[in-house]
Amino acid sequence: MGDLDGRVALVTGGSRGIGRAICIELAGRGARVAVNYNTNPSLAEEVVATIAQSGGEAAAIGGDVSDSDQAANLVKATIDRFGGLDILVNNAGITRDGLLMRMSEDDWDAVHNTNLRGTFLVTKAAMRPMLRARGGRIINITSVVGVMGNAGQANYAAAKAGVIGFTRSVAREVASRGITVNAVAPGFIQTDIIAGMSEQAVTAVMGQIPLGRIAGAEEVAPLVGFLASDGAGYITGQCIHVDGGMVMA
Ligand code: NAP
Repeated sequence: MGDLDGRVALVTGGSRGIGRAICIELAGRGARVAVNYNTNPSLAEEVVATIAQSGGEAAAIGGDVSDSDQAANLVKATIDRFGGLDILVNNAGITRDGLLMRMSEDDWDAVHNTNLRGTFLVTKAAMRPMLRARGGRIINITSVVGVMGNAGQANYAAAKAGVIGFTRSVAREVASRGITVNAVAPGFIQTDIIAGMSEQAVTAVMGQIPLGRIAGAEEVAPLVGFLASDGAGYITGQCIHVDGGMVMA
């Protein structure tokens, strides 16, 4: 028995990295989980199999969050499969790093389309079923970079700061309907997204982490599990950091 028994969760970008760890965490707490992916179904199926091996229930659902039809279909497919939607985790995200002077409009648009527009589109699609159910949990994965900024990531930082403003606005709009909306801001987490960083960049980052290490994705997931649970019912509009102390506010 878990504290999310009977709940249905949709995790965008659930096939790898932090999203994968969140899917496994939510399933471990008893939720049935829609594992979204964009390009790689086999990784999503592997997450589904891992959850099934532990006695949980999950399904892989493809779809590009930056496309309005596909975003809407993602929510519909989750409800068709599991009969409802109680928890939405907007986790899908990409980077296209570069210094501003060299940043192309494509790099700006791609990052905004997935990270910010995708969060908007999937949240909008999830709103009607959550309003009808008079309850729900929305958890948006932002980043410390959205708060601190980061040289070479103007596009990503702006989109992630946008996710925080979006979180707070929607939290105010839907609080009276029993829906909470929070953001989680990871620091540096060992996933594919940072696997490509140079040794020099990693050393520079380490110097900014009071706890002195890069975290695993499974260290972000428990907070998401808690925010989805009844124990977090009085928390909304917050941006909570899992960053080894990088941002202390
Ligand atoms: P990751 O390992 O690169 O995984 C990204 C996931 O997002 C994959 O499942 C990918 O699916 C999916 N995705 C990408 N574009 C998508 C789209 N348009 N529609 C649907 N799904 C899409 O990334 P991660 O490091 O776990 O990051 C997860 C989230 O945490 C992101 O929002 C990221 O910005 C944030 N974050 C990460 C860190 C970090 O240090 N890693 C720090 C702070 C914040 P496919 O493989 O099928 O394309």
